[in-house]
Amino acid sequence: MARKLLMLSGLASVVLAVVTYAAPVSLAGASASPAQETSAHAEGASAPHGTSVIPTPADLKGKAKVLAPPPGGWSVPSQRNYTITSSCQPYAAAIRQGAAAWAGLREGGGTPVECRNSYITDCGGGDRVVGCNWGAGQRIALYMGGVNDDALLAAHEFGHDWYGHSTFRCAGWDSAAHVMAPSICN
Ligand SMILES: [Zn+2]
Repeated sequence: MARKLLMLSGLASVVLAVVTYAAPVSLAGASASPAQETSAHAEGASAPHGTSVIPTPADLKGKAKVLAPPPGGWSVPSQRNYTITSSCQPYAAAIRQGAAAWAGLREGGGTPVECRNSYITDCGGGDRVVGCNWGAGQRIALYMGGVNDDALLAAHEFGHDWYGHSTFRCAGWDSAAHVMAPSICN
């Protein structure tokens, strides 16, 4: 089992462990990799998938949100379900908004979503991990206190039910691939 490490060399000491699932589904419209990033890939269907928060790079600051998911959400390879557990009740609206980014993602049964009050430390490594999706939908944890856009974090972790990370630097709403950037930037 190979392991994917993505190093953001321009951002000191941010190292993300990134896992793609067997037979990953490619995302249409993934951008070219920015020059200051290097990445390598690895497989591991059962490994957790952590997402870190980093400061917004200077050249991306002030970029307005220009697009949103289409009505009904972006199409996905399969239908999945999720349940908002009690720890996430304060964030239920944002989680539902994030889930709405994906067509075929329905509330009720399926992946339990829990919310934490601090960075996630049981996701297999990485600094300032704000989201984790274990086993491509076995369970999801979110640390809403660590990000500015709660719905985007939820949409991102739900996206790991099907997808690995794209090559965008910072997650955003412009496309499914944009949502699946390796980092949430504040
Ligand atoms: Zn992620």
